[in-house]
Amino acid sequence: SIVVTGATGHLGRHVVRQLLEKVPADQVTAVVRDRDRAADLAALGVRLAVADYNSPETFDGLFAAGDRVLLISGNEFDKGRVRQHTVVIDAAKKAGVALLAYTSAPESLRAALADDHRATEEVLVGSGVPYVLLRNGWYHENYTEQLAPVLEHGAVVQAAGEGRVSSASRADYAAAAVAVLTGEGHENTAYELGGDEAWSFAEYAAELSRQTGREIVYNPVSVEAYTGILTGAGVPGPLADVFAGVDAAIAKGELVVSTGDLSRLTGRPTTPLAEAVAAALKG
Ligand code: NDP
Repeated sequence: SIVVTGATGHLGRHVVRQLLEKVPADQVTAVVRDRDRAADLAALGVRLAVADYNSPETFDGLFAAGDRVLLISGNEFDKGRVRQHTVVIDAAKKAGVALLAYTSAPESLRAALADDHRATEEVLVGSGVPYVLLRNGWYHENYTEQLAPVLEHGAVVQAAGEGRVSSASRADYAAAAVAVLTGEGHENTAYELGGDEAWSFAEYAAELSRQTGREIVYNPVSVEAYTGILTGAGVPGPLADVFAGVDAAIAKGELVVSTGDLSRLTGRPTTPLAEAVAAALKG
């Protein structure tokens, strides 16, 4: 069957729903931590498996020979994500899965955030399990789901200078994962995934102005100032450093992905940023 970890997360839910457009529900297993939060997935007819990256024994017997697995990277930055992901890779190897796809980060991204992804890729490639590296670029939603302070202050505040981002929607990256999980010939491949069009924060602010009919400006600040703004808003220091590090990387062009891999895999153009803005403003 096709097994998706992190299935109750944002990306995972998109993947499960899109898979069901291509394969019968009884061929899909959703790996979740909390069965109660997966009631909607169970209602779609997919099988549920309960497991936690922190507990290797919960993955015992979860995979079967020939399974195609999507390992969605975790979000517990303080719990050793490489160790967590290795738990899943080891279990997949033991079972003899046919394919293990991992949601990674663009090769060009040098920020600290990418370290866990590079290390996980190394474990996966070294495991001998047929792999696919889905090196996902940025989500539109990283910004469009954080609009409240922007609208309140009439300003997009970032430390990304004139840097550009080729983001796409989570649904686009999910479609790429589904293409790999249901298609042929993707073994031992790395895909550099990003939106068809890169944009700058000045352009993003202009789009917000256009759609809200209010003046919204881009206020570029230094990395130090941005870190201070984040911690002032209650973001824990280490996480503020991670976010600020991402902006510094954007300023250097590290989140521009121009391979076209994403639209090629999905067979359609990626979702324009303006569409994600419109969806977010509609609530
Ligand atoms: P979410 O935070 O919505 O989902 C993360 C998923 O990982 C959740 O389903 C969560 O389970 C699961 N998870 C976390 N820790 C564990 C664990 N110990 N055991 C089992 N499952 C675990 O993120 P998204 O879906 O939006 O994105 C997927 C991943 O992509 C993120 O986890 C992160 O690694 C990365 N990411 C990428 C971004 C990008 O712009 N490309 C931006 C942000 C994150 P549960 O539902 O039980 O909480």
